[in-house]
Amino acid sequence: MNEADSEDIAAAFARRGFAVTDELKKADAVVVNTCTVRQRAEDKAISQVGRLRVWKEKHPGGKIFVVGCAAQKLGAKYLKQRFPFVDEVVGAKAIADFEDALADQFGPAETSEAAHKNLFRSPQTAYVTIMRGCSHRCSYCIVPAVRGPATFLPAGEIVKDAAARVKSGAREIVLLGQTVNAWKHGNTGFAGLLKKVLAVPGVERLRFMSPHPLYFKEDFAGLLAAEPRLARHLHLPAQSGSDRILKEMRRGYTRGQYLKLLEKLRAAAPGLAVSTDFIVGYPGETEADFRDTLALVGEARFSMAYCFKYSPRTDRPEMASDLPDAVMEERLSRLLAEVKRVSRLVLDERIGKIEEVLFETADYGRTSGNFSLRVKTGGAPGSLLKVKVTGADRNTLNGKVIAE
Ligand code: SF4
Repeated sequence: MNEADSEDIAAAFARRGFAVTDELKKADAVVVNTCTVRQRAEDKAISQVGRLRVWKEKHPGGKIFVVGCAAQKLGAKYLKQRFPFVDEVVGAKAIADFEDALADQFGPAETSEAAHKNLFRSPQTAYVTIMRGCSHRCSYCIVPAVRGPATFLPAGEIVKDAAARVKSGAREIVLLGQTVNAWKHGNTGFAGLLKKVLAVPGVERLRFMSPHPLYFKEDFAGLLAAEPRLARHLHLPAQSGSDRILKEMRRGYTRGQYLKLLEKLRAAAPGLAVSTDFIVGYPGETEADFRDTLALVGEARFSMAYCFKYSPRTDRPEMASDLPDAVMEERLSRLLAEVKRVSRLVLDERIGKIEEVLFETADYGRTSGNFSLRVKTGGAPGSLLKVKVTGADRNTLNGKVIAE
């Protein structure tokens, strides 16, 4: 979400004739888009803001914008008091109105054109935000507090955005939202929206991130079975494999329900790759709870997992961690080793298969299952080609282009 917001911010600058630069000394403005999902992310963002003091002294006419989730959590009053050289603070709840803050500093836009900026990926993939905020209350999560309750963009706006991205060269669209498959508007549900986006001429692959296990309806499985342009990969956060911890986390599903869902989706799309998120060391997590998480990795056959130590939040003292750091570290390294073992098995299963690869460079691309794949020859940036998988090194498949 932050990457997508940063791109919208860059587009707002582009409408005023600015270009993006990595070089601070060339910049007229600096935007720090902050994260607060873990305490460490917030601390890093804030020290980055602190370091801009020197830049501002050397560029007194330069403007500093602090935006996003940590800006929302800490507030404009606190940030401007602590860093008086900051010009504008725009919290995550108001990020869609960044344009107003920009107009205050640099005047009105020169054009109303969308001016999309693809800052983080190759040009053939574009992010399209379909919802903002989240209406869940997972016990460990700060997102609903800083981004507000879920609001869904109208289908027409989403389709228009996707069409504009295709016009600027995208072949793959990634729909974004905190609980992306909870999207609904009027009588249209998530599967209906997917159909509308797939109907946009030029959309050759469609992904979405991140779904919540509670929101997959029957019509989604049907669409997945019928529509090969729907990516054969889901990033489906599990967070824990222990029913007791899942309940404490208020995730709304059990381990059994999660596995059943995977079974159903894999029946619709055989070979569906599933990656996930895990938190280790949640308050009260026992060795038995942790073993349930470890076992889930193999049972679900995850292709990849982001694993993090539980991060206690300064604003929730009652949710402090009660496990020694050494225990958390030890569990984290066991989990990472198991994820590595299972993901290697999943990767090896692809050898000998034919995959459709969207190339980002002449020799590198991604399969529909979101596996990285390299070829020696035959690829071209932006091309979608059939590739026979011949082997795998570490996390990357190797293959040979066989046809367009
Ligand atoms: S569903 Fe996701 S974003 Fe929403 S509260 Fe839970 S973890 Fe946070």
